[in-house]
Amino acid sequence: MKYDVVIIGAGISGLWAALNIKKLRVLIVAPKSEEASNTYWAQGGIAAAMDVQDNPIMHYEDTLKVGRGLNDKRAVIVLTHYAPVVMNMLIRMGFKFNPYPHLEAGHTIPRVWNVGDETGKKLLEFLIDKTGYLDREFCKAVKLETYKGKVVGVWLENGKFIESDKVILATGGYAALWKRTSNPPSSIGEGILIGAKAGALLSDLEFVQFHPTVSLTEPPILLTEALRGAGAKVVDESGREVANPLLPRDELSRIIYNYRKKYGEVFLDISKVDIQKFPMARKLKERVGEKIPISPAAHYSIGGIKTNVWGRTSVEGLWAVGECSNTGVHGANRLASNSLIEGLVFGYRAALDVENDISEKPEFRFLNILEVESAEGECDIGSIRDIMDDHVSVIRDEEGLKEALRRIGRGGVCDLVKAIVLAALYRKESRGVHYRADHPFENDEYLGNIGIRIV
Ligand SMILES: Cc1cc2nc3c(=O)[nH]c(=O)nc-3n(C[C@H](O)[C@H](O)[C@H](O)COP(=O)(O)OP(=O)(O)OC[C@H]3O[C@@H](n4cnc5c(N)ncnc54)[C@H](O)[C@@H]3O)c2cc1C
Repeated sequence: MKYDVVIIGAGISGLWAALNIKKLRVLIVAPKSEEASNTYWAQGGIAAAMDVQDNPIMHYEDTLKVGRGLNDKRAVIVLTHYAPVVMNMLIRMGFKFNPYPHLEAGHTIPRVWNVGDETGKKLLEFLIDKTGYLDREFCKAVKLETYKGKVVGVWLENGKFIESDKVILATGGYAALWKRTSNPPSSIGEGILIGAKAGALLSDLEFVQFHPTVSLTEPPILLTEALRGAGAKVVDESGREVANPLLPRDELSRIIYNYRKKYGEVFLDISKVDIQKFPMARKLKERVGEKIPISPAAHYSIGGIKTNVWGRTSVEGLWAVGECSNTGVHGANRLASNSLIEGLVFGYRAALDVENDISEKPEFRFLNILEVESAEGECDIGSIRDIMDDHVSVIRDEEGLKEALRRIGRGGVCDLVKAIVLAALYRKESRGVHYRADHPFENDEYLGNIGIRIV
């Protein structure tokens, strides 16, 4: 089978890129389950400067403030200025947001557009409907074929080979490599590894955002910041407050993480919240009551396949968009609700580039490029999740990271895990979401990105 473009992944980034390729023959490759994408679970909404009082420069400044000096400023300018453009495209196609944006942590103005707490699910349903005319393979991709450094096709799990010299990876992140995670179990970075094994450079893998308030239930449910804004308290067993519930995500995560290690369980007390506005929390309250046991959980992968502002990777014929990519917009920490919009903006720009060959071959600058030797073999995800929770969590140190390296097996996503740990070990400072107990301050010797090559 031959296609002009193969898009791997059917979350917001892949489907939006597919919708914006007009003249080429597109195949979308992804397993059928919608719930296997992070997009399905997104609650809060989409950040875009659309309101009359807002403007893209304010959005740009808020994004930089949170990113602690590591943002690629050019990528942030692109993100914040294209955000209203792609949002208007969505709206013109018929997607309906609530009429007013809401305020989220780190934004100086209400800027987050939503559909209740089901923004991701509604968006995905809309995009699946709009892309219904395109060819699909309901299957996983397992390998990219290259010839003389250029992409020539994709191998699927069902044994098929799809010939194509243009491939867009839109396979999502790797936060489900941790046992405590807000992501579906399939978000283990397999697509990132596929890209890396084809020669694509990775970067910023040490930066993973932890969400402070994820329920200790099965399945875990993310308890949105808006609940804390509406009066939910972070308390211990006796009901005593453990932390200011309105602290930024990374600070609150560290307090809850430490408290649980030293003293005992932590709960989100939602007894004072008007729960009617929060359907997910309401359902949880019916099951476990008003004091919900919580812990921080791995939530968003900032690192991924390094791209330029058109989604181009270091391999000819390969683009990466959305959470599997690293455009540099988030720097060392992600501003709330900046990821769905990243998928829309860079999905759109990758589509333009694939179709019109706009971008030059990208050149990337790194602090250092670390090499990881790949191996054949299966990776035991269960034990990887234990290792990541034990040693590569909200708070890290050299001893724990070295212990993680000793325990990680070889082959499959173990190679990606090794890359994450090596990057965390290399960055001997605390910046954004990467906190090292043995190096608790920012150190400007590390003001740059760590690249990874998997050989
Ligand atoms: C609980 C939760 C709440 C969130 N809330 C928000 C929010 O309010 N606002 C916000 O901006 N962001 C939010 N996020 C983050 C946001 O949802 C994600 O960053 C975004 O949806 C990623 O989109 P994506 O298209 O890149 O990847 P995904 O939506 O994860 O899609 C990946 C796709 O790739 C497929 N795939 C994976 N591997 C393969 C393979 N090997 N072969 C073929 N297909 C493959 C998957 O099946 C899926 O179809 C939230 C995330 C979670 C988990």
